[in-house]
Amino acid sequence: MNSAKVVRTRFAPSPTGFLHVGGIRTALYAWLLARQNDGKFILRIEDTDKAREVANSDQHIIDSLNALGLNYDEGPDISGDYGPYRQSERIDIYKRWAKKLLDSGRAYADPYSPAEVQKFRETAQKNKQPFLYRNHRPNNPPEWDGSQPLRFKSEPKGYTWSDAVMGNLSTGPEVIDDFIILKSDGYPTYNFAHIVDDYEMKISHIIRGQEFLASTPNYLNMYEALGIERPILATMPHILGPTGNKKLSKRDGAKDVLDYLADGILPTTLVNFIASLGWNDGSEQEVFSVPELIEKFSLDRVQKSGARFDEKRLTWMNGVEIRSMDIDKLYELTKDYLPEESNNYDNEYNKAVVKITQERLKYFKELPELTQFFFKEPQSKEVLNLFQDPKNKQLKKLDRKQINDLLHATINTLEKSSFDKADLESKLNQLLVDKQSKPGILFSIIRIAVSGAPASPQLFDTLQVLGKDKSMERLRKATELLN
Ligand code: GLU
Repeated sequence: MNSAKVVRTRFAPSPTGFLHVGGIRTALYAWLLARQNDGKFILRIEDTDKAREVANSDQHIIDSLNALGLNYDEGPDISGDYGPYRQSERIDIYKRWAKKLLDSGRAYADPYSPAEVQKFRETAQKNKQPFLYRNHRPNNPPEWDGSQPLRFKSEPKGYTWSDAVMGNLSTGPEVIDDFIILKSDGYPTYNFAHIVDDYEMKISHIIRGQEFLASTPNYLNMYEALGIERPILATMPHILGPTGNKKLSKRDGAKDVLDYLADGILPTTLVNFIASLGWNDGSEQEVFSVPELIEKFSLDRVQKSGARFDEKRLTWMNGVEIRSMDIDKLYELTKDYLPEESNNYDNEYNKAVVKITQERLKYFKELPELTQFFFKEPQSKEVLNLFQDPKNKQLKKLDRKQINDLLHATINTLEKSSFDKADLESKLNQLLVDKQSKPGILFSIIRIAVSGAPASPQLFDTLQVLGKDKSMERLRKATELLN
């Protein structure tokens, strides 16, 4: 096979809609392999099925690859030595190769109407026979004039081949059939076009989804008929939903790649997460940088069985990356996610809010909810509800008056505080001792009063950033609510 040749991998999407996780995984593995071997990564747009085409989805694919940093070396918008890179612009090339097959007696014009072919299919079904077009191969096919579909004249036989992921596979002659190579609209089928293109573009590895596995013996038959060497084949396992027992669907929350980025999942996390869907390096390591992925990726560690898509693991990984980030960089990336009211505050305040939220943040779109009380007064109703929340085991033991006493004591103590974190910490810890209270009670009461939220960043951080004026005002307001 091509192992000694330059590694040239391709991503060959059809522009039929959004780019889902499975598509991007194929692209990523092909990209990693090319980068690891100083090879080339090629983008080829497979736009020969005009009925399924969705306007602008080729641009969407390009944007998604760029957003994830999966740069390609040749492609429709940057050209290269083996273009065009859009199948609809390569029709003459497919015709030339189809002509070769015609001339060598390995292709013929399909004389049947779709209704006739459907009849053959139904008859086979009725007789409980698998349908094979080649059982109806015409003895004297008409001359091909371009208006009929052109079919491959297959040579049925068994195959044993090796797939870089799935291992050794074999099939019998019964799966080999006469498939269409050029449709009556003049466009080639995927089955034919990709073989021609991969050869002409000197592709070394075909990395693609499992849905093409059943057709592979037919492709092997075609490589032989064309007298060309096939690339290395690597078939990706399915991506399964979170329960791990069925294929991932949109209902499982699988979104368009660009939507994940818009939610504030970092591109590097998304790359890391997608790489781990069906691949690991054999160790326990879960978080990899992109250079590490390039170094460690290998096709022989891609698993054969389905990979589970767990969005919780994605947000967990993102949280790990967010926590490791420099605050200036994090603030640059997140400032537009802060609540609208943050426009009324200066950068220093807003950055301080992001800084103390960094610890808990999993993705940027959570920011409005996590930080709103820094910009807006908490709602009285929320504050009261939280004081009386039956799920709060500690506070449940206190009546309104006891809560109010603790609030008054806090106000008296904090009036004397500089609201510097260390001072807040020492004064409030002393208050715990004086009042014989517990952090789960006293600090919880203070947090509810100033935030109106069931959770917040660390209390002393929160008070320091919120500042003395706002904090005291909210504590006083809470005492009024309880009266
Ligand atoms: N155009 C095919 C698809 O989008 C690509 C299959 C391949 O990678 O060869 O499903």
